[in-house]
Amino acid sequence: MNTEEIRRLEEIDRKHVWHPFTQMKGWMEEPPLIVERAEGNWLIDVHGRRYLDGVSSLWVTVHGHRVPEIDDAVRAQLDRVAHSTLLGLASVPSIELAERLVRIAPRGLTRVFYSDSGSTAVEIALKIAYQFWQQQPGGSAKKRFVCFENAYHGDTLGSVSVGGIDLFHQVYRPLLFETLRVPSPYCFRCPIGKSYPSCEVACLAPLEMLLAERADEIVAVVIEPQVQGAAGMLVQPAGFLRRVRELCDRAGVLLITDEVATGFGRTGTMFACQREGVVPDLLCLAKGITGGYLPLAATLATERVFEGFLAEFRDRRTFFHGHTYTGNPLACAAAIANIDLLERTALVGTVDEKGELLAAALASLAEHPHVGEIRQRGLMVGVELVRDRTTKAEFDYGDRIGHRVILAARKRGVILRPLGDVVVLMPPLAISRDEIELLARAVRESIDEVLPRGA
Ligand SMILES: *Cc1c(COP(=O)(O)O)cnc(C)c1O
Repeated sequence: MNTEEIRRLEEIDRKHVWHPFTQMKGWMEEPPLIVERAEGNWLIDVHGRRYLDGVSSLWVTVHGHRVPEIDDAVRAQLDRVAHSTLLGLASVPSIELAERLVRIAPRGLTRVFYSDSGSTAVEIALKIAYQFWQQQPGGSAKKRFVCFENAYHGDTLGSVSVGGIDLFHQVYRPLLFETLRVPSPYCFRCPIGKSYPSCEVACLAPLEMLLAERADEIVAVVIEPQVQGAAGMLVQPAGFLRRVRELCDRAGVLLITDEVATGFGRTGTMFACQREGVVPDLLCLAKGITGGYLPLAATLATERVFEGFLAEFRDRRTFFHGHTYTGNPLACAAAIANIDLLERTALVGTVDEKGELLAAALASLAEHPHVGEIRQRGLMVGVELVRDRTTKAEFDYGDRIGHRVILAARKRGVILRPLGDVVVLMPPLAISRDEIELLARAVRESIDEVLPRGA
């Protein structure tokens, strides 16, 4: 692309594109990196510069970019139909995909409700769970959701209501429905001042108490299984999720697991629930579902939940919800190709080993005076940077340390996106061993550049 064309695009971007989760004042002062194309795990900008996609284009890419099998599947679907509705009609790809999703999901999740983003997948789970109880004998007092501190479930108001990240969510509080919030197992900054494993996961006590005392008011517990992603890759102790499932069962409360981030192999099993042998009542999927190609989401439900909606037409037990592009055939075709490829290549089975390689390549960072903690499950990694390791004091919000580190990584040909001062690594499952080394080296060097060890 020639310089004039690039300048024109930069100018229009500054003038007209409002970027998500971005302070636009600062954005408009820096030249934007404009992606033009991609190859495998690499993004290529308008100058022809290549960057390793270190966060899977915001946690979505699975097999890399421009995967022949997925490209072909989308093209073939284009030659048939780009969109038809699921309101009153069925479509071939949405049927084929439902069969595959049920096959790979924890056993017992047999019903698939489509939408188009992680936020809507969660909204739908919340509404299904709520309406389910409203239609059950004796369930009408169930009106509250239990959610975790530091949770992130999306940016629509329902999903924000069950979120727990004040920086993102506080300003909207007056618009949100009330929830019951329990501590999250953020072991590095333990909410009850204990340490694992001698704590015996005592942070679960408030949930235990709530479910023992107020189950008749509670619709469901909502959780990101294994890893609270947007909070900074907060990894839960082993057995945590299974315990939450047991408590829900005992109390007669539904369990909603949001696997929008953890799904499709990121943690080393197809779904994070499966590592703990947990079957939720509702499972939310998005991000990796299409291999990172097109917006699509699915909320899976058990037969029991589904049957709670079956009635005569006149009884008005219909689930009155649906987005216009629900089950879009192009997106479903990409998702089918993604899942078929996952099964054929057994890529998920490589995640544990790749995760270990990445951990080994990052290990020397543990000695860094400004690295508080390195958290990891599979190919989801967070490196929490702190002002002071002993006090765990944070940097000032305005110092933008995380942002400066990712800019330093960019000079080294790696794209990252931090969460505050947590440097996040979440490469595509298809990342090679060499690329893992390169990614880790860029992160090590960038942290050293922004936070020199001697200083
Ligand atoms: C990204 C994310 C969402 C929101 O998904 P969108 O597609 O951005 O709406 C919800 N839950 C979790 C756990 C996520 O990581």
